Amino acid sequence: MKYIDEYRDKDATQLIANEINSAVKDDVALMEVCGGHTMSMQRFGLRSMLSDKVKLLSGPGCPVCVTSIGFIDKLVAYSRLDNVVIATFGDLIRVPGSTSSLERERSNGADIRVVYSSLEALGIAVANKDKYVIFPGIGFETTAPTSAITVIEAKSKGLKNFFMLSSHKVMPPAMEAIIVEGVKINGYICPGHVSAITGSEMYEPIAQKHTIGCVISGFEPVDLLQSIYMLIKQSNSNIGKVEIQYKRAVKPEGNIKAKEIMNRVFVPRDDYWRGLGVLPCSGLTLSKEFEEFDAGKHFNIDVEVAKEPKGCICGQILKGLKTPNECKLFASVCEPSSPVGACMVSSEGSCATYYKYRVRKG
Ligand code: SF4
Repeated sequence: MKYIDEYRDKDATQLIANEINSAVKDDVALMEVCGGHTMSMQRFGLRSMLSDKVKLLSGPGCPVCVTSIGFIDKLVAYSRLDNVVIATFGDLIRVPGSTSSLERERSNGADIRVVYSSLEALGIAVANKDKYVIFPGIGFETTAPTSAITVIEAKSKGLKNFFMLSSHKVMPPAMEAIIVEGVKINGYICPGHVSAITGSEMYEPIAQKHTIGCVISGFEPVDLLQSIYMLIKQSNSNIGKVEIQYKRAVKPEGNIKAKEIMNRVFVPRDDYWRGLGVLPCSGLTLSKEFEEFDAGKHFNIDVEVAKEPKGCICGQILKGLKTPNECKLFASVCEPSSPVGACMVSSEGSCATYYKYRVRKG
């Protein structure tokens, strides 16, 4: 607790906020890429401590939020097949597809089970050889290595009834796309957990090409404010470089073993992101060596391209163009108990965190 307390110390937090407010010259827009950062910003009220010159934007870092409706529709279609078990993280169950959700299918009798890890899903396959078990692989570089280990394990066990539908994604193409789309950003608060796997090098092309600061941040108030201060100093000097604030968890080279495993099991592919569309090489699919576990190849079901729910502005929120308060459905029609869009489902989603902490300052 003492360790956490240091990073939540009220005096230290206020001191850094004061430093930021003195240092900021012109208006700056900083985007937190990670859903965990969005949660911490709201939970600790960090926005309200900062000058109006510091605009904090939420980005595309909530895996459930950026996953396409088509992915949910495909899982719904799979869940209706005979002898299929969908073994999934809890968040995904509640994400609305175009006409149904996994939650609704479960109430209609589909075999959909909540798991806390991909290895738990594998265990269900081992224990139920008469069933086909499909695990939806979602998340960024943080969760992809665990999914990769699970697939390696499935192969070593010779399993023929375990499959993964991968929607794993990698962060840099989305960060690049947001800048190219013309969203005005002076710095990125880069994800801590993702970077613990990848290291810092992958942000270099973005920092250099666009002269934009990229600071890898921890999740506590002192971490985040320090990162903001580092970005403002870069912005004031008109430089863009990669820095690591979260040194207690992130090494420049990342986790080499995890990267090796990930690169063996997955290969890049073009993938769809809510709000950003299809981005080249932004997703991960199973490599040739492991394609026998690819649910998309084994269960050949096509679903129609789905439209976003009417009135939902998740796509613009994920690009930092709007805040949840600007959605007409926010906290009226759309609430965590009856989500219209994905951003209201996950605890890391901007709409869910804005709802929980009722943020009024954007
Ligand atoms: S409040 Fe609901 S409908 Fe509005 S953007 Fe968020 S998830 Fe979509």
